[in-house]
Amino acid sequence: MGEQREVSYAEWEAYLDEALPPEEMAELEELLRRDPQARKHLGEILALRDAGVHSLGSLWRQHRLTCPTHEELGSFILGVLDEEIASYIDFHLRVVGCRFCRAEWEDLQEGQRQKPEELSMRRGKYLGLSSPISTPRTGAGSPASETPDSQ
Ligand SMILES: [Zn+2]
Repeated sequence: MGEQREVSYAEWEAYLDEALPPEEMAELEELLRRDPQARKHLGEILALRDAGVHSLGSLWRQHRLTCPTHEELGSFILGVLDEEIASYIDFHLRVVGCRFCRAEWEDLQEGQRQKPEELSMRRGKYLGLSSPISTPRTGAGSPASETPDSQ
C-alpha cells in the first residue's frame, strides 16, 4: 500500500536538530503528518531526549555506524558502559530493533549466564529496586465481582 519511506534514526535526530536540507525537512514533516508510525518513532526519540539523552546523534556520527560493536554489546550487558552509550544501544536494540544486534545480544547474554557472579550482582540491584508494595489478595473481594452467574 504505497511505498514506505524508511527514515533512519540519524535522520530523525537531524530533523530534530533542524540539520537537514530544507527539502528533506519538508519531506519528513509531510511524513509525520500522514504516517502515525513515523509520529510514534519520533515520539520515542523525543522521549529519550526528555530522559536526558541529548547527544545520541553526535555519538552516532562519531561512531559513523548504527550498530554497536561486539565489545560494546558485551559491556552493555555487563552494565559497565557510559549511560549515554548504554542508552544508545538500548535504543538500537529495543526501538530500532536491529535484528543483527539482537541476535548477537542474545548470544552474549547466553554467555553471561555462565558467570553467576555478575548475574547475582545484577539481580541484587533489581531486587533492591523492587517495589515495596505487596498487597496480598486475601479474598476481600467486593460482592459485585463475586456474583455467581450460573446459566
Ligand atoms: Zn545493529
